[in-house]
Amino acid sequence: MIFSECLIGKEIRRNVRIDVDEGYIRNIEVEAGSPNIHGLAIPSFVDTHTHYISYSLSLNRPRLDGIRSLNDALDFIREHIEDSLGEVVIMEGYDDSSWERGITKEDLDKITDKPLVLRRVCGHKAVLNSSAIRFLKGKFGDIPNLNEDTGLAVEDLPLSLSKYFPPTDEEIENAILNAERLLMGMGIISVGENASHRYIKKLVKLDKKNALKIKWRVAAYFKQLENIKDILDYESENFRIVGLKEFLDGSVGAKTAAFSKSYSDGSTGKLLKTDEELEYMMKTAERLNLGVWWHAIGDLAIEQALRVLRRSKRADKHRIEHFEFPREEHYKIAADMGVKLSLQPNFVRRWGNLDGMYRRLLGDMFFWGNRFSFLENLGANYAFGSDCMPPGPIYGILGAIYHPLKDERLSLETAIYRYTKTGAEILGDETYGEISVGKKAYITVLSRECLEGILH
Ligand SMILES: [Zn+2]
Repeated sequence: MIFSECLIGKEIRRNVRIDVDEGYIRNIEVEAGSPNIHGLAIPSFVDTHTHYISYSLSLNRPRLDGIRSLNDALDFIREHIEDSLGEVVIMEGYDDSSWERGITKEDLDKITDKPLVLRRVCGHKAVLNSSAIRFLKGKFGDIPNLNEDTGLAVEDLPLSLSKYFPPTDEEIENAILNAERLLMGMGIISVGENASHRYIKKLVKLDKKNALKIKWRVAAYFKQLENIKDILDYESENFRIVGLKEFLDGSVGAKTAAFSKSYSDGSTGKLLKTDEELEYMMKTAERLNLGVWWHAIGDLAIEQALRVLRRSKRADKHRIEHFEFPREEHYKIAADMGVKLSLQPNFVRRWGNLDGMYRRLLGDMFFWGNRFSFLENLGANYAFGSDCMPPGPIYGILGAIYHPLKDERLSLETAIYRYTKTGAEILGDETYGEISVGKKAYITVLSRECLEGILH
């Protein structure tokens, strides 16, 4: 195979012949004659922070992705309210950051008496109508962090929707197989999946039947550790539990991320765990030869993560997820400690414009965040992941190369490098992630059309 262009390391080379034998790259020759495959050959993508199983399950529900105004959202809900056969209608993926105001319980009550739950794209916030509140209270009693007057739920309910409305085993299995098709279509070979114990058990079951094609590197939720203790040691080429997930704070969109200063409307997020709880978790992870995956978005949460990780002799085994709004010193500390960081450049694309949601809610704290080029120059141990908002790397790559703060822009080559080579590394894999002799030949070709779309 001779590719017209090929990313080797962080450099794009032309007319590159790659010889593959038994799945491994055996020889690479640059300027090797006329190409028979056009487009840019890159190592297959590694998406280091994902929720593909939940996303795949949610595809069976009405989705409000891309709806840009409250009125359009209300029209969509009216049109789709009858689509769902279940007792409760769940709609996914709304993003109210550009709407004139947020959606309310009253808006939903006017549309339907059926129990209706709308989950925001970030997964940290949901709006419920009165029937849904009655339904849930009847079944589960009081729901944490659900305000019955406003219908607004943050954290517990939206993050654990499948606990309140569990999918069947068959639905989970189909969701995994559909997710794999989706992943292959996007040129992704490996994911760092945040997975509930039921999803993990199903992944193991499918893997034992040799039904998995993608490499699933999984973080289990710390509070579900008991449920999976008998399969913690199970591993294969395509499946391995690598992390223990916990939330140190919430999201900016839900105004639950923990910052040292208040949001522009005066509200403040809060830390969800004590240092002692986190230290216990870190030690438990180390005893099991796993790393923690700590969700930390606001500077207070990031500071807490770094403070506790400092007590470890192996801070470089652990991860901070998102690491979105650290203060300047935190970037340096994280880089010095070698902590693994999974960043989401798609958040920059989506909410990080100079007139976007982040700036509106955070004021000057906006400028602290997502400094990719700064991290690059510090030699930090970071990689990219999509968090499935939206799924796939391309949208995020646009966020990195057209960063609204020009000084923080990455080149296309570096952005891809952070979505491939360092991605595989922070998942603990060394046999793939780059186009070089001796590595597995997982190669994705970005077509000319795709590249033109990126480099417009
Ligand atoms: Zn996530």
